[in-house]
Amino acid sequence: MIILGIETSCDETAAAVVRDGREILSNVVVSQIDIFAEYGGVIPEIAARSHLEAMMPVVNRALSDAGVSWDEIDAIAVTHAPGLLGSLLIGTLTARTLAILHNKPLYAVHHLKSHVYANWISKMALPQFPLLALVVSGGHTQILYMKGHNQFEIIGTTHDDAVGECFDKVAKILGLPYPGGPSIAKAALSGDSGRFKLPHPKVEGLDFSFSGLKTAVLRAVQKEVGVPISYPSHKLKELLSEKQICDFAASFQRTAVEILREKLEMALVEHPDVKSVVVAGGVSANEILRKALPDAYFPAPSLSGDNGAMVAAACYYEIQSGVEPTDPYKLDIYPRISIEN
Ligand code: AMP
Ligand code: MG
Repeated sequence: MIILGIETSCDETAAAVVRDGREILSNVVVSQIDIFAEYGGVIPEIAARSHLEAMMPVVNRALSDAGVSWDEIDAIAVTHAPGLLGSLLIGTLTARTLAILHNKPLYAVHHLKSHVYANWISKMALPQFPLLALVVSGGHTQILYMKGHNQFEIIGTTHDDAVGECFDKVAKILGLPYPGGPSIAKAALSGDSGRFKLPHPKVEGLDFSFSGLKTAVLRAVQKEVGVPISYPSHKLKELLSEKQICDFAASFQRTAVEILREKLEMALVEHPDVKSVVVAGGVSANEILRKALPDAYFPAPSLSGDNGAMVAAACYYEIQSGVEPTDPYKLDIYPRISIEN
């Protein structure tokens, strides 16, 4: 079965053609990172306009790279939730129109489900059920229990910020460029991860909290450079040396990874039946996290970020699980919706 996957939940315009949920025939991603580096974050209105410009060239390129015609496409899959409203609208309207024009079944796919299913693509050995999925992205930090394909139970979630958001905010405090995750990881390579002791939040059970860690970094930076807590965070970077920035990046990254690992270990104790662990979302690209969880499945580095291949893969397993296509005339978008729905 050959599926065209379309993804526009945030600031990547992406389309891919995937056979049987595992074999990538093409994978085209146009990122808006260069546009938003200037602003230090995503501006939803600009993101939507950029999707509009890139969408059809990206879809056409995905088909030509795969060497397939519309006749050979069995289904169209598109991200319908969660994400930025304007961004989701461009992808879903495109997919709906293409489904009607080419008379193809249309499937609306949850974005986090897609991130999880990136772990099934191009893998020799597949994850085994029941499994735990650690979802670590810019908008979510969750531990999911999966009894089987397409069955998700949230057993832990963040009370406030997501871990990726925390990487991005700490990078801003340190004056490192957007997106913060890769910038922190790069600076940390030259830093001493033991120099600054940062607290682990005390959150009950398998839940997370990352806003306290971000504030702890802010206070530690203010203390280090000798300014009061009222000092504006955007001016701190001017007072930090290269060495201090790298040491803060390394210390923060180590702490964030330790928090994730501790909660995952707790989840494994509570669910002794679990056979595999998969890690999903943008933060899964982090090398220190990969080293900290040597037995877990991680997506190929090129599939950690947003892409259409994972949407097509998730759709394949939805179809295998008996999910019916969506009416292209009625498809709704849900900026905020749980993976359990
Ligand atoms: P997503 O929301 O899944 O698209 O992922 C985007 C998030 O992943 C952003 O918060 C990035 O800062 C973060 N991210 C990307 N690469 C890395 C990395 N190497 N280490 C940590 N975080 C990362
Ligand atoms: Mg994402």
